[in-house]
Amino acid sequence: MDRDGVINERAAPHQYITRWEDFRFLPGVRSAIRALNEAGYLVLIVTCQRGVARGMMTMEAVDDIHRRMCETLAGAGAHIDGIYVCPHDYGQCACRKPEIGLFLQAERDFPIDRAASWMVGDSDTDVEAGRRYGVRTILTTDLPSAVKQILDCDRGVRQ
Ligand SMILES: [Mg+2]
Ligand SMILES: [Zn+2]
Repeated sequence: MDRDGVINERAAPHQYITRWEDFRFLPGVRSAIRALNEAGYLVLIVTCQRGVARGMMTMEAVDDIHRRMCETLAGAGAHIDGIYVCPHDYGQCACRKPEIGLFLQAERDFPIDRAASWMVGDSDTDVEAGRRYGVRTILTTDLPSAVKQILDCDRGVRQ
């Protein structure tokens, strides 16, 4: 899944979440992630943080936000299995979505079954990246409803 606009509120236009104080979980996200954990899904984040390339934050600041995010999730019995970050500017890498470099990084760490996987994001580039990678996609800002859709759909597949 994507991060900004899915797990936490997006920053204002042309702004970035540069510190934990600005990170706000969207409603129902913690229990939605826990539901994925309990159903046996790997939960991976693929996030573009162009603010790093623009000098508005460091990778250390991004890592710090993610550490605190994971601590907060742990307090709700939820966890993220892996976080993959593109810190680059436009057109300079193979990982900024809709490129699939972040997905390929994740694939080095985890046995990902593309046909059994989903990409959830709030931007067209998330959906495009998911399509290119070969997973099912959901465009939404409402993770709880996306998780419900995933669980309902996959439960149907298993029956
Ligand atoms: Mg987003
Ligand atoms: Zn990149």
